[in-house]
Amino acid sequence: MLDADFFRRWMTATAASVEREAERLTALDSPIGDADHGSNLHRGFTAVRSALEKEAPDTPGAVLVLAGRQLISTVGGASGPLYGTLLRRTGKALGDAAEVSDADLAAALRAGVDAVMTLGGAAPGDKTMIDALVPAVDALDRSFAAARTAAEEGALATTPLQARKGRASYLGERSIGHQDPGATSAALLVAALADTAE
Ligand code: ADP
Ligand code: MG
Ligand code: MG
Repeated sequence: MLDADFFRRWMTATAASVEREAERLTALDSPIGDADHGSNLHRGFTAVRSALEKEAPDTPGAVLVLAGRQLISTVGGASGPLYGTLLRRTGKALGDAAEVSDADLAAALRAGVDAVMTLGGAAPGDKTMIDALVPAVDALDRSFAAARTAAEEGALATTPLQARKGRASYLGERSIGHQDPGATSAALLVAALADTAE
């Protein structure tokens, strides 16, 4: 079973990974965006980390709702409301249980990813974070490690796609040939989950 401490460690691991990879995320956002994805998420997850330290929420759902709220209020870009919605909706789906199962988490994350698709209007293949998140949630029924691999493969598979949502879509065919920054950061989030579960 997964408790609040597990979710806190997942968010802390994500913050560390985003900090390590911030330059690369911003570099990916440079040819097909406005070169701020790394700094956006670094700011957001730094706020998540300090809010979790300060408020110490004591259920899995409350950890993710707090994290999502921080992302929405501190990240100016498109990714803030989208990642914020992902974590908030996933947290709400977990309810107020003190511990949740792997299957509970898989179901809640699916609800979170569905909420991101509703909010942003992106479907798989549109070259967004959804291209990492949907395969990850599909694979989570098997294992955390399978979810990590699926997210990483999903992020790599965005390279030949033409963007149909977000800033990169303004480039039309010129968005082809670049890996999507948001799909790349989504793979970091899923990898941090798999690391935490190990
Ligand atoms: P901004 O584009 O506002 O500068 P970021 O650079 O932080 O925001 O995030 C860009 C990422 O957000 C993209 O790489 C993409 O994965 C994701 N994204 C943008 N628009 C959408 C959308 N409508 N649905 C899902 N993801 C999106
Ligand atoms: Mg950007
Ligand atoms: Mg921006």
